[in-house]
Parts: sequence; C-alpha cells; structure tokens
Amino acid sequence: MLESSIKEAITLWRAENGFLKSPLRAALIDMDGVLYDSMKYHTLAWQKMMSEQGVECSRDEFYLYEGMTGAATISLLMARNGRPVLSDEEVKRLYAIKTEYFRQLGKKEPMPGADRMLEVLRERGIKRVLVTGSAQSSLINALAEDYPGAFLPGMMVTALDVNNGKPHPEPYLRGLEKAGVTNARTIVIENAPLGVRAGRASGCFTVAVTTGPVPREAFVDAGANLIFPSMNEFADALPTLIDIFDE
Ligand code: MG
Repeated sequence: MLESSIKEAITLWRAENGFLKSPLRAALIDMDGVLYDSMKYHTLAWQKMMSEQGVECSRDEFYLYEGMTGAATISLLMARNGRPVLSDEEVKRLYAIKTEYFRQLGKKEPMPGADRMLEVLRERGIKRVLVTGSAQSSLINALAEDYPGAFLPGMMVTALDVNNGKPHPEPYLRGLEKAGVTNARTIVIENAPLGVRAGRASGCFTVAVTTGPVPREAFVDAGANLIFPSMNEFADALPTLIDIFDE
C-alpha cells in the first residue's frame, strides 16, 4: 500500500476524533481470521451444530456474525427461525457442542504473515493485546505455542471477559485498559465487519485484513480506516504505518 494512502487515513482518523499526533503504543489483535486461518472450521462447526437443531444455515453467513459471542449468535439464529428464547443453560450446552466440533477438526493453521506482523510490533516496542469474541480454549491455548512471546500473561480479552461482544466496543475498551494506552495511540487489527465496527466505536485506528469471503465494501461500510487484502501485505506495510504514527 502507498505511504500516501496510509498517511491520509491516519490524518483523517485523527481529525475525526480530535486526536493530536502521538506515536503508536499498542495493538489490539483479533484471533480468528487474523492470527489463525480458522474461520473455515468455525463455519463448518456452526453449520453442523445448528443443522442438528433443525436450523439450516449457510457457512458463509457465519463470517457476518464473526466477533459476536457464541451465545449471541445462537440467540440470533434461533430468533430468526421463530424459536422460543432458550435458557442460558441451553445456550451454553449448544455452544459447548459447537466448540467440541471445532476442536475435533484438529490443529488450526496460523495465518500466513501473522508471525511477521507480531514480530514487527514486538521489535518496535508496541504492546500487544489479544481481543477475541471466542471462548474456544483449544485455540486460545495454542497461541503460546504458535506465537511464543507474542502475548504477555494477562494480555488477553476473550468472550469470558465481557458482557457485550463485538460490534459493541466493550472488548476493545477492555483491551485498552489491559494495555494501559489511550485509543489515540492504538490500532485494532480485524478481519470481520462486526469487529471493525467495535474497533471504530472504541476510537482506535482500525485496520481490516480481508482474509475471508466477505467483500471489501462490507469493511468500507463498517468504517475501516485501512483495508489490506492479506496479512502478508499488512505485515509488509506495518513498519511504514508505525513510522507515520511516530512522525
Ligand atoms: Mg476474526
């Protein structure tokens, strides 16, 4: 991406939010579709679980729900199919089934380029906080092995830590608290339209990386400050983005 495009996006974002120039200090990083090429497995697990409940879904629609908590997704699909509201226990039971189907699909591949992205952030002294709508322990626990040293202990916000999932800003606001950094000095890295909305609502500079089938326009509509077609291209541009923040 051109340096001038990055500069323009940062200038516009600062003007919209009334932010003064200040260096980049923190990155709030989504997990599925950003650090792992895992969405294809999530969509399969969701479709299987919901189908067993008599609710037919397309795999692609789950890319649009990505970022919501599992409970919110189940409630939305049940309501869409005219089902009565489920008890919290029943929602938990169904989410546990989906979680187990996902786990059974085996080891999930790290997203190509994500390791370089994290390495650039670490080299430049930028704090990293994981901010995921997931409560999928099989994947969260794999982070330390797949990305050693990328996230310091406690630098994580998961579905278990928030009352409101994305697109509500709460997950990213909690991430800012963990980093101890203001939104004027923080970027959000997302692959889902609802996640981008959450990032923008938190005031952070929000980068969308389009790693799935959702068209680019959906990320424009969600308000992404910059859009990259792959994690590798974002990793390539990240040193320039950090330099421009620091100017
Ligand atoms: Mg994601």
